[in-house]
Amino acid sequence: MVSAWSTIFGFRKFITRKDSHIKQSARINALEHLANTDALTGLPNRRNLYSTVQEYINRGTGEIAVVIIDIDNFKVINDTLGHISGDALIVSFSGFLGKHCHGENIVARVSGDEFALVFPDCSVESALQLCNGIRSDLHRIDSLDHLDKAVSRVTASMGIAMYPYDGLICEDLIKHADSAMYNVKKSGKNNIAIYNRSVHSLLEEQQDIVHELALAIERNELYYEVQPIYDSTGSKILKAEMLMRWNSKKLGRISPAQFIPLAESSGLIIQMGWWILNQGCLLSALVPDIKICVNISVAQLIYPGFMDRVNEILKQSSALPSSLALEITETFILQNNPIIAAVMDEIYGAGLDIIIDDFGVGYSNCDRLKKLPIACIKIDKVFVDSLLGSAIDQAYTKEIIGSLVRLGKTGDFTITAEGIEVLSQLEDLRELGCHSIQGYLLAKPMLPAKFIDIVQESYLAG
Ligand code: C2E
Ligand code: CA
Ligand code: CA
Repeated sequence: MVSAWSTIFGFRKFITRKDSHIKQSARINALEHLANTDALTGLPNRRNLYSTVQEYINRGTGEIAVVIIDIDNFKVINDTLGHISGDALIVSFSGFLGKHCHGENIVARVSGDEFALVFPDCSVESALQLCNGIRSDLHRIDSLDHLDKAVSRVTASMGIAMYPYDGLICEDLIKHADSAMYNVKKSGKNNIAIYNRSVHSLLEEQQDIVHELALAIERNELYYEVQPIYDSTGSKILKAEMLMRWNSKKLGRISPAQFIPLAESSGLIIQMGWWILNQGCLLSALVPDIKICVNISVAQLIYPGFMDRVNEILKQSSALPSSLALEITETFILQNNPIIAAVMDEIYGAGLDIIIDDFGVGYSNCDRLKKLPIACIKIDKVFVDSLLGSAIDQAYTKEIIGSLVRLGKTGDFTITAEGIEVLSQLEDLRELGCHSIQGYLLAKPMLPAKFIDIVQESYLAG
């Protein structure tokens, strides 16, 4: 199983090559296993599920069915027969679901008696068929022998959500599958429901958004916010990330999580990307000591003549290449794709920094990191959030970030952590040697005028 934590696979190679790090590698292995596994059933846990689904999405597996399945009346079983019987049922149920999942299908335990099934490359009709198969097979669950005669039959309620129609990230898909499952519970249990919205109406809605987006640039509906990135003490602004915003006259404010993927799939991101790069160049002239970071989608990166266009924009705005950094998502940068590798060399050759964005979400081979022309790795929020998790999560995350910081020293790149919301995260990251910090704790994204004010105030304060 590949997980967000499988970033570590690359590390493992890196570390084991150095004998002195063998123990560390074994510890990381053990922590990795604990951090990704549900202790009772041995199934992947929620985090493991999120990262594997994200991997399928990144890989472009097509439609993905996410099913939430919840044992009916489990609380009653648990309360009347006791936790030991309840646990026995959970274990048998997980074994039963495992028998229905083959190949790349996933079964994971998401909470108490709630499980998730994931079927990649699966239509809604096939998902329904699979769920029906599970439903009619439920009587085979073998734990009934250990349970009291009071439980003569185990039934379950199921909800199905489909990628990409019902959500573009695992969290939304689970949420929607869950809400479909709750509808089943409300209407008598022991059944299957598909998330409310019909595939057709969702597609229509998306087409509408794309249509409006195509007009957004001309209509001046696009604007941007900037989020400062501070040094590890949280006092000095080193960089700032440009974040695109869209206030549609027809559809209202739409979040980038919704419009960026649609801009990418429709190709509009290329034009939008040039627009924001140009805005970044103009902003950089006003905040000369601060590196301006611009997100670049892979469609834009592999666009023929990418670097020529970047150079043209730099020239027109008189911005220095060294004042800009381009953020490229980990999944694409480390794919070993010759076109992307060549563009990265061109970017580096032109004097712009490359930042690996969302690090930890994909499955990087960290051996490769040292060979790439990168200036910085930005550790994803999901990763940083684990600093607030269980003791195992924390230990594991600290081990990884510490190793990344050490790797950065030999590979000559720095480490930024993003999504820092809590002081203890900042303290942990500083202790681990992270160079820069981005997150609501220090500053939320803001309009450029406010950002310029803050920077100028800091210049005055010396
Ligand atoms: P990203 O590149 O990972 O950007 C960071 C996201 O995290 C931003 O969300 C930012 O507002 C949010 N964030 C920062 N600190 C915190 C925190 O402490 N807590 C929480 N909960 N969130 C925090 P935003 O602005 O909604 O952007 C979402 C994504 O949309 C970006 O993720 C990026 O992938 C994409 N995006 C935004 N602007 C552009 C752009 O100009 N070009 C491209 N290609 N993608 C963009
Ligand atoms: Ca980014
Ligand atoms: Ca990011």
